[in-house]
Formats: sequence, C-alpha cells, structure tokens
Amino acid sequence: MSESERIGGVKKAELALYYQPQMSADGTTVVCVEALIRHNSPFRGILGPGDFMPQLSAVELMNLDWWVLDQACRDALLWPSVSVSVNVSAVQFRNADFAERVLALVDHVGMPPQRLELEIVEAAFIEDFDMATANIETLRKQGVKIALDDFGTGFSSLTYLLRMPIDKLKIDKCFIDQVEFVRSAAIVHAIVAMARALGLKVTAEGVETELQHRFLRAAGCHYMQGFLFSAALSVGGITRMLAQQAERAEANMAQARAASVTG
Ligand code: C2E
Ligand code: CA
Ligand code: CA
Repeated sequence: MSESERIGGVKKAELALYYQPQMSADGTTVVCVEALIRHNSPFRGILGPGDFMPQLSAVELMNLDWWVLDQACRDALLWPSVSVSVNVSAVQFRNADFAERVLALVDHVGMPPQRLELEIVEAAFIEDFDMATANIETLRKQGVKIALDDFGTGFSSLTYLLRMPIDKLKIDKCFIDQVEFVRSAAIVHAIVAMARALGLKVTAEGVETELQHRFLRAAGCHYMQGFLFSAALSVGGITRMLAQQAERAEANMAQARAASVTG
C-alpha cells in the first residue's frame, strides 16, 4: 500500500471524523461542531486519538492534521448553519506557509473561511511567537477563528494570551470537573473575567452535569461543550441533530405567530 493511502500504520480509509457539538450558553443551540478523529480498526474496533496518535511520528501527525482539515471542510459543506472547528498541532504554526496552505485548502473545497475555527493544541510547542502570530493574522484577516485549547493547563498559558491575537479560549475540562469546589470555581471566574476583558470568547469543555452548566452560564462562558449536551457524533448523527434543531425552531416560530394572531 502506498504512502498516500496511509498515515503511519493507519489506513486513511479506516479514519473517520466524529463531531462534538458546541452549544450556545443556554444549551439550546448548536453553534459549532468540533472534529474529533477516530480509527475504525478492523481488529480493535473504534479507537480514539489516544489509542493511535502516540504511535505516529511528528511528520505523520502533521499529515494527519491536513487529512482532518480537508475532510472537516468537506463535511462542513453539509452544515451551512454552523462553524466547524479542527484541532491543529501548535507545531504547524512554525511553518511560514501554514496559513496560506489552510486558505488554499478552504478555497479549493469551497467552504467559507468564516465558518472555520482552528483549535491550537499543545500551545507549549509554539516556540516562535512571531511566526505563529504572522500565520494567525493571515488566517484571521480571512475570517478564520483561532481558539486556544485546554486553557489553564501547561505552565505558560498566560504568555500565549499576551502574545498571540486569538479569538477564543477553551477552559480545560479539569477545571470544569471540580467547579463545585471553591478553588476551581475561583479559577473559572478569573479566566472568564480575563478573557472578557481581552474581548475573547470562552468555551467550557467537558460539561457533564446540570450543576456545572448552571455555574458556567452564570460565570459568563459563551459556549458549552460536553456529554451533558452530546458526545461526538457521526456525520449522519450531526445532520440529524441539526435537522431536529431546525424543526424545533420552525415550530417555535409558528407557535409565536399563532400566539400573536390570537392574542
Ligand atoms: P480535546 O480537543 O480537548 O477534545 C475533547 C476530548 O474530550 C474528546 O476526546 C471528547 O470526546 C472528550 N469529551 C468531550 N466532552 C466530554 C465530557 O463531557 N466528558 C468526558 N469525559 N470527555 C469529554 P477525544 O476525541 O478522545 O480527543 C482527545 C484529544 O485528542 C483531543 O482533546 C485533542 O487534543 C486530540 N485530537 C482529537 N482529534 C484530533 C485531530 O483531529 N487532530 C489533532 N491534532 N488532535 C486531535
Ligand atoms: Ca479541541
Ligand atoms: Ca480541550
């Protein structure tokens, strides 16, 4: 099998993207879907990224990022009402032509760049802030949004806020898990206040309980993501979820129209 048909030991034909909804703060409306990679192993079943990404080399991981980006932009054409976010290794931002390559891909697929969001994972690997900033600025000029993933983990997250022109923070699940404890609650409040002061949006990730949702909404998080709302779904699953959402919105509008006529 040729190199173009596989990434490391994984056949491209066995890779699939699942998508996890990111909701409005009130939890009612899908605003974005995050692409999460899975490997349909004929021997071991559906594997998550933790089961096969550690075995890939740095170059293979870069190739995987491009495969995901291409596939996610194609899938996004099915869902014009929402944005699609893609996890991208921070290492990519070291390449001078990264932004141009992303914009060329988006253009080739025919997806509006305003609907693409890139989540920078393992930001600690940025190293060259000037190069990363140049890439980010090129992307943002065309409307691509940039989020910092797993915010609060790693030891220099604040440096990235100070030095890079991003749009959004995703508060790491470890703070959400413990939000009923005063220390985590204080950290979440501080992150949201800081983000809002900087004009950034905030997504809470890994929201699992109603209690967490209520707290995070009151704290001022703009978006919610987690099993409370939905796990990652197949392409068909997202299509169905968005269709149901559109039906509900239509029914609510009809009800409001009827009420205004009779009232
Ligand atoms: P992440 O970007 O922080 O993605 C969130 C992970 O948390 C996902 O696991 C998701 O399924 C899981 N999750 C979401 N909500 C909940 C919740 O309420 N409770 C719990 N317990 N878990 C929740 P997944 O899909 O295994 O991804 C793990 C990590 O692998 C991702 O973390 C991301 O860093 C990386 N990853 C996934 N797909 C890609 C990809 O296409 N490219 C790159 N470079 N990295 C990826
Ligand atoms: Ca992510
Ligand atoms: Ca994360």
